[in-house]
Amino acid sequence: MRRILIVGGGYAGFYTAWKLEKKLRRGEAEVTLVDPRPYLTYQPFLPEVVAGSVEARHAAVSLRRHLRRTHIVAGKVTAIDHAHRVVTVQPPDGKAFERSYDLIAVTAGAVTRTLPVPGIAEQAIGLKHVEEAVAIRDRLLTAFDRAAALPAGPKRRKLLTVAFVGGGFSGVEGFGELLSLATALLERYPELHRDELRFHLVEASDRILPEVTDRPGRWVVRELERRGAHVHLNTLVTSAKNGHVTLSTGEEFDAELIVWTAGNGANPVVGRHTDLPVDERGYLVVRPDLRVEGVADAWAAGDDAAVPDLASPVPGARTVPNAQHAYRQGKLLARNIIATLRGREPKNYVHHSLGAIATLGLGRGIFQYRKLVVKGLPAWLMHRGYHVLAVPTWERKARVLAVWLTQALFGRDILSLASVQHPRDAVSSEASPRAGGSATRTPEEPAVVAAGLTVAGEARPGDQPANGLASIPQVWPAAGKVPEIR
Ligand SMILES: Cc1cc2nc3c(=O)[nH]c(=O)nc-3n(C[C@H](O)[C@H](O)[C@H](O)COP(=O)(O)OP(=O)(O)OC[C@H]3O[C@@H](n4cnc5c(N)ncnc54)[C@H](O)[C@@H]3O)c2cc1C
Repeated sequence: MRRILIVGGGYAGFYTAWKLEKKLRRGEAEVTLVDPRPYLTYQPFLPEVVAGSVEARHAAVSLRRHLRRTHIVAGKVTAIDHAHRVVTVQPPDGKAFERSYDLIAVTAGAVTRTLPVPGIAEQAIGLKHVEEAVAIRDRLLTAFDRAAALPAGPKRRKLLTVAFVGGGFSGVEGFGELLSLATALLERYPELHRDELRFHLVEASDRILPEVTDRPGRWVVRELERRGAHVHLNTLVTSAKNGHVTLSTGEEFDAELIVWTAGNGANPVVGRHTDLPVDERGYLVVRPDLRVEGVADAWAAGDDAAVPDLASPVPGARTVPNAQHAYRQGKLLARNIIATLRGREPKNYVHHSLGAIATLGLGRGIFQYRKLVVKGLPAWLMHRGYHVLAVPTWERKARVLAVWLTQALFGRDILSLASVQHPRDAVSSEASPRAGGSATRTPEEPAVVAAGLTVAGEARPGDQPANGLASIPQVWPAAGKVPEIR
């Protein structure tokens, strides 16, 4: 029996495994999938998780529930030694171990690209994972509560200031949805005034949303500005130390919430820790049929691979990193693996883009397919219709739809659950006889907890935190604040 190993259970990896389960004959091959997370994240829903329109759990699809014939391994692949057909896996606990395979499919996606801007690693939150989307939402909701209890002044102004860095798809969608939530929240906070809200979108190039053409891109800028946002084009963030944002134009402001969406970078396991061939950006070089170039028994798809775009008239073009491609490549990857196992020729990947569609907040969106541009409510309805059909599994579609329907009846859910980050506070500060800041701690409590901080997960060399912005563990402040990235 051939052993197939899939690295990463995101969009491409999940569909590869799902399709293999359906198509493989009994005894033909065994499939193992390694991922540090027990679920696929449907990233296109993260902006709506930010706004509270999609429940955080519903943007994730359980691997164990839906991949019943695949062996799921919880762990991070830290190295791929294809010459010896072995990967190194770092599990959540204990020592790293090696796992051998006959055939590998690398679908580890990309990571948030970072730039050495002072303060970003300490202050900013990314928007690639569910926990980041939840933290962004909770931080805004908590900021409103805190601001409402303060007199007008610099502290209140800071609490009501948000900065998004990066005007690509995820940045604009997240920004638009958060702006829509903040504007709606004002109705519940008579203490706060609309003019006090400051939403900054900072983009290094001269336009946002590169997936649409210039005119619709300019329309999106005007639409955001009409809603009170400040869009800074041709502008860099030069510092964000202690939440004080400095722009290359000389403008400065304090922001309670900084979201970093300045693009993707190569996944380190692909870019640096493998003998498989990668291009100058650190993406796996694959043939049009998704086999890794020049080696046997290795395949790749999705955001970690430079897949030739045979549908593009531009010579040498690669498919853009999006869910549209990752899903189709994952399915073809499974079919091609089975074809080669049965002695048939694999097929090339060809997909003509279905266009670009983005939400800009509740009831607002933009869609473009070639010269056809749809704006506003119709585009937003198309966005919702497309994504509820695209999120994997009927169970998830039904849950997402149910939340949208209840929202249509009862409005947005504006509850912040930032306090779930420190569940022991109630016990330690209200019931414990040691309340009041005694330094005494039980021997099993880690020192860092006694200092008022809880380390989310144990640090290991080379660890990526949830947002991929730095390589040291995340630290959650124990009281009154929402998660910070370190
Ligand atoms: C906010 C946001 C909105 C988006 N909206 C859209 C949209 O509207 N339309 C669209 O087409 N695309 C959209 N995208 C892009 C789309 O989500 C991605 O292109 C797609 O998810 C890529 O799929 P993938 O399987 O390659 O990677 P991912 O979905 O990122 O999955 C990678 C998986 O690999 C795992 N992994 C990573 N490293 C390792 C390792 N070392 N070992 C083992 N496992 C590992 C990860 O945990 C993850 O589960 C959006 C992205 C974001 C962030």
